[in-house]
Amino acid sequence: DGVRELLLSRIRDVADYPKPGVMFKDITPLLADPEAFSALTDTLAALCVRHGATKVVGLEARGFILAAPAAVRAGLGFIPVRKAGKLPGATLSQSYELEYGTAEMEVHAEDVSDADRVLVIDDVLATGGTAEASLQLVRRAGAQVAGVAVLLELGFLGGRARLEPALKDAPLEAL
Ligand code: 5GP
Repeated sequence: DGVRELLLSRIRDVADYPKPGVMFKDITPLLADPEAFSALTDTLAALCVRHGATKVVGLEARGFILAAPAAVRAGLGFIPVRKAGKLPGATLSQSYELEYGTAEMEVHAEDVSDADRVLVIDDVLATGGTAEASLQLVRRAGAQVAGVAVLLELGFLGGRARLEPALKDAPLEAL
């Protein structure tokens, strides 16, 4: 519909970033456009409601920018999932495989309880490793997964298939 076209029109392709051969999807034009950013926020907030979320997780760093206003608009709390070493309190930690090497994501253990149903939001789903680690964190904290919502899914990287076991029957929504 019109929102989808508006959002797509505000994503910029940047060739050879961050390294040669990669076509980077740059969302900063969308963030700079109040109409597009507001439409995205409304859409994400509606997904929170539709999937019965009680908390919204945003993935560092661009996921924070999308998830925080959506959480506020939906009347829900926001929880940051961060790269290792950034959160000051007691954390759960989950490592995951990258193309070369591993990475690690963390959440404050006290932010997620077994009474919660969590929607995970990020800007781009690429290989799915980041989102997969976040779902494992949410499940290890004892919470339910309401779903994963991303602005953009790079289908050719196979992230949806990688996420499937961690999603179980929860939805992956790619706007
Ligand atoms: P994955 O773990 O799925 O391979 O990578 C997803 C993470 O990398 C997301 O947090 C996302 O922000 C970032 N990412 C990977 N490729 C792109 C891209 O082309 N554009 C943007 N904006 N982020 C990307």
